[in-house]
Amino acid sequence: MHDIIIIGSGPAGLTAAIYAARANLRPLMIRGSEPGGQLTLTTMVENYPGFPDGIMGPQLMEDMDAQAERFGTEFHSGHVDRVELTGTPFRLFVGKDVFETKTVIVSTGSSAKLLGLENERRLMGHGVSTCATCDGFFFRDKKIAVVGGGDSAMEESTFLTKFATNVALIHRRDRFRASQIMTDRALSNEKITVHYNSVVEDVLGDNEVTGIRVRNVNDETTAEFDLDGVFIAIGHNPNTGIFRGQIDLDSTGYIRTAPGSTATNVPGVFACGDVQDPVYRQAVTAAGTGCMAALEAEKFLER
Ligand code: NAP
Repeated sequence: MHDIIIIGSGPAGLTAAIYAARANLRPLMIRGSEPGGQLTLTTMVENYPGFPDGIMGPQLMEDMDAQAERFGTEFHSGHVDRVELTGTPFRLFVGKDVFETKTVIVSTGSSAKLLGLENERRLMGHGVSTCATCDGFFFRDKKIAVVGGGDSAMEESTFLTKFATNVALIHRRDRFRASQIMTDRALSNEKITVHYNSVVEDVLGDNEVTGIRVRNVNDETTAEFDLDGVFIAIGHNPNTGIFRGQIDLDSTGYIRTAPGSTATNVPGVFACGDVQDPVYRQAVTAAGTGCMAALEAEKFLER
């Protein structure tokens, strides 16, 4: 029987682990299928306080991991397939293993959204990507497209100009959602060509991407762009499938927490980080709510 099990090993989960371990609660962390979370897919993080020269995302996560381990966090590599949160102790099923615990901290984060095109899935890893940092290197001296109009699309387009000869930035509206500074950076880059009011209708290619078909939503004309890669940067979905029906979720699938707290509707189950935050979604806010979750779980156990 564990006191605390933390599901997910991004900044929220690891901060919760550091606090819970320092409170002598010997937390068990189940790392999940993407250990370290989304920051392991980024390059330089410039806005995490304490690093005036920035720090590489994977390095930041390695350091948080080491810090959590130093204070006695136990780690289990694996993915939680199913949970039983209807009675106590709570039960978590990881492959053939079953873990029992008095409290659960959910920090399962979110995953990249896709356009929903059949060929997008078929050609994933063969020219279609959701991670510029991971795959940009493969597109040296090639032509590519980035889909989206938020900060991720701006950041990824700008980053990809290091490799690609040309980046077509495709956005469905006539205005970007991204912050001004990131937009300005992308718009001032000569290698980026913006296509507003445009949607990707299909990804072309037999075994690898050779182009995309784009429709202008204003005049309904379509055009085929010859290119070698397409990066989908249209946001993320919270990883809450296993909690559906057991924890209250909002209409977009994010876990609902009580205002000013990480408490879910299930006493003893807390949620922190991107899985409960559709608004800020920053490493530092995730870490902040991870700290809250550990302190709240500790109080719950004392009671
Ligand atoms: P986002 O802000 O939700 O933006 C998603 C973009 O994709 C929007 O422009 C949206 O269009 C478009 N989109 C969504 N679904 C689409 C679909 N099916 N087809 C075509 N386009 C679609 O997501 P994000 O850019 O990933 O950013 C998420 C959060 O992380 C934000 O808070 C952002 O500020 C933050 N972030 C920060 C940084 C940084 O500061 N370094 C970097 C990356 C992300 P509409 O605009 O028409 O809705």
